Amino acid sequence: MERYIPIIPIRDGIIFPNTDSVLTFGRPKSLAALESSFTQERVVAFVLQKNSRINDPEPTDLYTVGTLCHIERMIKADGEINAQVRGLSRIQVLEYDESTAFLMGRVLEIEETPDDSAEVKALCNHLTNEFRRAMNLGKFVDFLVFMNIMSENTPSQLADLVSSVLDLKPAEKQVLLEELDVKKRLEKVIDYLAKEIKVLELEKKIASKTQERFEKGAREVMLRERLKTIEKELGENDEDSETRELLLKLRDAGMPKDTEEKARKEIKKLSQMNQFNPEAGYIRNYLDWLLALPWSKESKSNIDIAVAEKILNQDHFGLDKVKERIVEYLAVNKLAGKMKGPILCFVGPPGVGKTSLGKSIARALDRKFIKVSLGGIRDEAEIRGHRRTYVGALPGRIIQGIKDAGTRNPVFMLDEIDKVGADFRGDPSSALLEALDPEQNNVFSDHYLEVPFDLSDVMFVTTANVLDTIPPALRDRLEIIQFSGYTQEEKFRITKGFLLKKEMESHGLKDSQVQITDKAIRFVIDHYTREAGVRGLERQVATILRKVAKMVAEGKKGKVVVTEKNVTKFLGPTRLGSTLIEKQDEVGMSTGLAWTEAGGDILFIEVALMPGKGSLILTGQLGDVMKESCQAALSYIRARAQQMGISEKFFQKMDIHVHVPEGAVPKDGPSAGTAITTAIVSALTKIPVNRTVGMTGEVTLRGRVLEIGGIKEKVIAAHRAGLKTVIMPKENKKDLEDVPKEVLKKMKFVFVEHMDEVLNIALTKPLKQKEYQRPVLYAANPQQAD
Ligand code: ADP
Repeated sequence: MERYIPIIPIRDGIIFPNTDSVLTFGRPKSLAALESSFTQERVVAFVLQKNSRINDPEPTDLYTVGTLCHIERMIKADGEINAQVRGLSRIQVLEYDESTAFLMGRVLEIEETPDDSAEVKALCNHLTNEFRRAMNLGKFVDFLVFMNIMSENTPSQLADLVSSVLDLKPAEKQVLLEELDVKKRLEKVIDYLAKEIKVLELEKKIASKTQERFEKGAREVMLRERLKTIEKELGENDEDSETRELLLKLRDAGMPKDTEEKARKEIKKLSQMNQFNPEAGYIRNYLDWLLALPWSKESKSNIDIAVAEKILNQDHFGLDKVKERIVEYLAVNKLAGKMKGPILCFVGPPGVGKTSLGKSIARALDRKFIKVSLGGIRDEAEIRGHRRTYVGALPGRIIQGIKDAGTRNPVFMLDEIDKVGADFRGDPSSALLEALDPEQNNVFSDHYLEVPFDLSDVMFVTTANVLDTIPPALRDRLEIIQFSGYTQEEKFRITKGFLLKKEMESHGLKDSQVQITDKAIRFVIDHYTREAGVRGLERQVATILRKVAKMVAEGKKGKVVVTEKNVTKFLGPTRLGSTLIEKQDEVGMSTGLAWTEAGGDILFIEVALMPGKGSLILTGQLGDVMKESCQAALSYIRARAQQMGISEKFFQKMDIHVHVPEGAVPKDGPSAGTAITTAIVSALTKIPVNRTVGMTGEVTLRGRVLEIGGIKEKVIAAHRAGLKTVIMPKENKKDLEDVPKEVLKKMKFVFVEHMDEVLNIALTKPLKQKEYQRPVLYAANPQQAD
């Protein structure tokens, strides 16, 4: 069918039959054509320009095959027309009429011959499938168009519909428009679609690769961003509740005003701080410390002297002087109403009950007990804390202890105060002084806390093994209370009265289940322990009870009785005997008495002579002072050789070797002088030394015997080792007052002023001396001596 209708050129784009499009027109001729047509049949033909850039195309600039369209709607705006048009059919322009204001022409509507062949049907199926695939790969198609394509269509309609949405250049689309053979058209459309699918697949691949790369780099960023958002959401709530919680704690902390102000400031700072700011952690930590300290929490402490005394006696055997002193101390404090005055310092060997007495004091006063060991501290910051600017800074041990105690007035034991040293990191003892000094410790400043803490209600008790190494300034502040080692008898009574009970309780044993006979206890004391205190003994008792508990648990009926005979079954073979006095009197070997941090002990001096040139060989880890004692002893003997009946030539032909066994243990001090001299004289004269005699005392070149220290510990050790006689300087007689009566009763004491007297007692035969003084004998009661 031929028609004479307006023909409107379009720059790009093809309208296929059966499709709807919205087009915008701006060229005057197009506008005129549309308007004129709109008032009549509303039918126009659109044809593609061969060159889109030509503004006013001639007929020769146009393709001859176009589309007959119906104008559905038209909107005019700003000199433009937007028209919704529907493609009706293909047309062939037969002739143009250029006489009118716009292009008119005679066109021929192209009739299509339907093709229902199986091949075409198959092509249609294939096309719809492929189209669906393209959609899945991400091809964008308007939903209505998609529905159109998927609904019932003739093959030609299907081809046109798909063509309209293919991503093709206008010229390519024109080819599809011009193709009148449906089968061929379908094939071409399928071809184009296949290309498009390939491109889509490629794009997808690229996209996923990009995505991967993006994921690697940006994913993290993205996640972090997301995390930030989430945390911000949560964090804000957190922050609020945290601040609230801190403020609640602050309210209950009972801090002094200034401190509270400071804490409040820090809380504010924290609440305004970004959660990710590392400083927030520090501030939180600081606040934790500040708020956890017992600023005003205290034990109600009412010192009842009678009760205190009772409790001290309940927990400990003996130690009468110590207990008395403590009670006095408490009485003074009760009257003064404050813990003022010097700090108690318990000095003595390990295991004599210093710590447990501290605990008893706390119990007697109804206060918390806290113990902090100062052994090996060299850094002032250990006592007073690190400044907050340090990474990992913490308060010092005093404040840590107070926090652990949970009250502001505990009994605070500073252990091993004699082991505090000073070096380049500052002097810990000065910080200690500040903590202990009642005049200034109400504002003790810890570097970490930055605010003062009142320590004035803390009862400090210190302990030490020896006095010498306590820094003098510190020692001035201390009230020394000496603890000495226990005698065998005391150990026995402590075991029977206290240790056994305590250990049985902790092992869950009853009297009906176990009994350790007195003899067995004594046997354990003598043969399994050699110590000033009772720690080792306590361990041995625990070992026995552990084994008994095991037997009971395994179903043993009746009572387990541990006797002297069967105790080895529990503890294994006896261990001791080495330093116990040797069996025989020997030439060149004497017994000295030593005093160490661990209490008193006996010590053997061995001397051997060998051909040589008169040199002195010293072995056994002797300290300088002890070496000098050996030199002095030798000089003294050489000066007196004739009187002692020793050939003077001896010294030219002989080397003298002095050895103190247990070579691994360092030994020092002047007090072995008498023992060294005796051993050398014995070696030179071949007169044996009495094995039951122990001696202590410094010797001068002229043979005078001088006062030494540690008598009490030494005598107890001598007694423990089974010595019968102790020779000591006369000036030390007064020290015997502290020695337990039972020891005094069992031993003989000889007080000497001169070495001659020592030799006279210690050697089994008298020397061929010209003169010597009679020794003064002492037994039992010092008052009756002389
Ligand atoms: P230190 O602190 O002097 O090294 P401890 O206080 O740790 O010694 O004492 C060790 C053990 O010995 C503790 O179980 C303690 O109860 C016990 N102990 C020491 N002396 C006595 C005593 N006189 N009476 C009762 N038990 C004692």
